[in-house]
Amino acid sequence: MRVRVIACIGLGSNLGDRLGFLHGGLDGLGALRETVVLARSDVVETDAVGLAGQGKYVNAAAVVETGLSARALLDGLLAIEGRAGRDRSKGERWGARTLDLDLLLYGDRIIAEPGLTVPHPHMHERRFVLEPLAQIAGAVVHPVLGRTVGELLRELAGEDEGMRG
Ligand code: ADP
Ligand code: MG
Repeated sequence: MRVRVIACIGLGSNLGDRLGFLHGGLDGLGALRETVVLARSDVVETDAVGLAGQGKYVNAAAVVETGLSARALLDGLLAIEGRAGRDRSKGERWGARTLDLDLLLYGDRIIAEPGLTVPHPHMHERRFVLEPLAQIAGAVVHPVLGRTVGELLRELAGEDEGMRG
C-alpha cells in the first residue's frame, strides 16, 4: 500500500458563478479516489493580480490526505478544472479561469518535472494563496524555503507594509 501523504491545494475562481465553482472544486477534491479532505479554509475574496480588467477572485485552500502520487493528484485536479470549464462553458474564453486548482504542497516532497513543480513555484509570493492556506496549515513547513506557511504570510505582509511606506 502506498504511503498516504498530506497535500495542500489552492483553489480560485473569477468568472461566472465563482462561489459555485469554488464549492464544486472542494466537493471534487473529496470525490477523488484514495483522497480525504481534512480541512477547508474560508473563502476569501481578492483583487486579481496581473492582467488588468479581470474580476475579483474568490480563493480557498484545502488540506487532503491522499494515497495518490503527486502526478495522479495533479491529474485529478486538472480533471476537476476541466469539468468546471466544460459544464458551464460559453466558449473558450469562458472556460479557462472558472476554476483553477493548484497543487501547492505534497508532503515535504520537492518535485521538478515537466508539467509538475512542487511546491508550487509562486505560492510564497501570493497572498491569495497564503492567506487561506494559513488558516488551516499555518504550521506546515515549505520544504524549499524552510519556513512555515504562517511565516511566509507574515513576511509577505511585512513587504506590503514596506511598499506602502
Ligand atoms: P497557474 O495556476 O500557475 O496560474 P495554470 O493553472 O494556467 O497556471 O497552469 C496550469 C499548468 O501548470 C498545468 O497544466 C500543470 O501541468 C502545470 N503545473 C505545474 N506544476 C503545477 C502545480 N504544482 N499545480 C498546478 N499546476 C501545475
Ligand atoms: Mg493552476
